[in-house]
Amino acid sequence: MAFTRAPGKHRRPSRMQRGTVRAAGVAALTGTGVVGSLAAPAFAAEPAAAQTGLTPVVTLGDAVADRVDAQAAAQHEAAREAAEAAARKAAEEEARERAAEEAEEAREEKERAAREAERIRLNTFVSPIPGSYVSTGYKSGGAVWSSGSHTGVDFHAASGTPVQSVGIGTVVEAGWGGAYGNQVVIRMNDGTHTQYGHLSSIAVSVGQQVAAGQQIGLSGATGNVTGAHLHFEARTGADYGSDLDPVAYLRGHGVNL
Ligand SMILES: [Zn+2]
Repeated sequence: MAFTRAPGKHRRPSRMQRGTVRAAGVAALTGTGVVGSLAAPAFAAEPAAAQTGLTPVVTLGDAVADRVDAQAAAQHEAAREAAEAAARKAAEEEARERAAEEAEEAREEKERAAREAERIRLNTFVSPIPGSYVSTGYKSGGAVWSSGSHTGVDFHAASGTPVQSVGIGTVVEAGWGGAYGNQVVIRMNDGTHTQYGHLSSIAVSVGQQVAAGQQIGLSGATGNVTGAHLHFEARTGADYGSDLDPVAYLRGHGVNL
């Protein structure tokens, strides 16, 4: 009996073993009577216990374990996908914010550049004849000046030399100016006035906007002169007598003379 129980409860008998045990049980029952009758219930119980007890539990355990594994894997996959989606979304959001910041910075930079360009446009001053020099200074005396002294400066210039506005402004006079000959007077952006005299020709008209460096005419010898040159004056206002030192005026606006 001891040997017949060995394949029993602690491990699942194979189909072959169960068949052998059953056959042995039947043999014992039929052959040895008492022993067989005692042994038979045990043998009969063994295969049933093995099939309905241990084996199904093991099978169920495997299935559950598989399901748990699958569920855990699915949950893990779902969590991984959710984390990836969140990371993607965060990266996209960050990229959008960065793009918006860069667009804003570009817009601000463009505005700064525009303001700077406008500041330069409004504040740039140039010499009326680039490369020329002052041949007769401000306030120098002489019989030729009706006021008794020179109210401007003379720039050395052969007749026909291009003359340009020293800065941005509006033409307020363009025509004959008596002793000044053909002249142009420009009201500058800051309210000061500049005058260009003895021109051989005038290229602008009253009311016209001019920029720094824009040609307004050609130098000449019209009016009360002994030779071709450009008479240039700067005044605080439109009136004669409000003259400024033209060289100081131009240097004060950054022009090298
Ligand atoms: Zn002069």
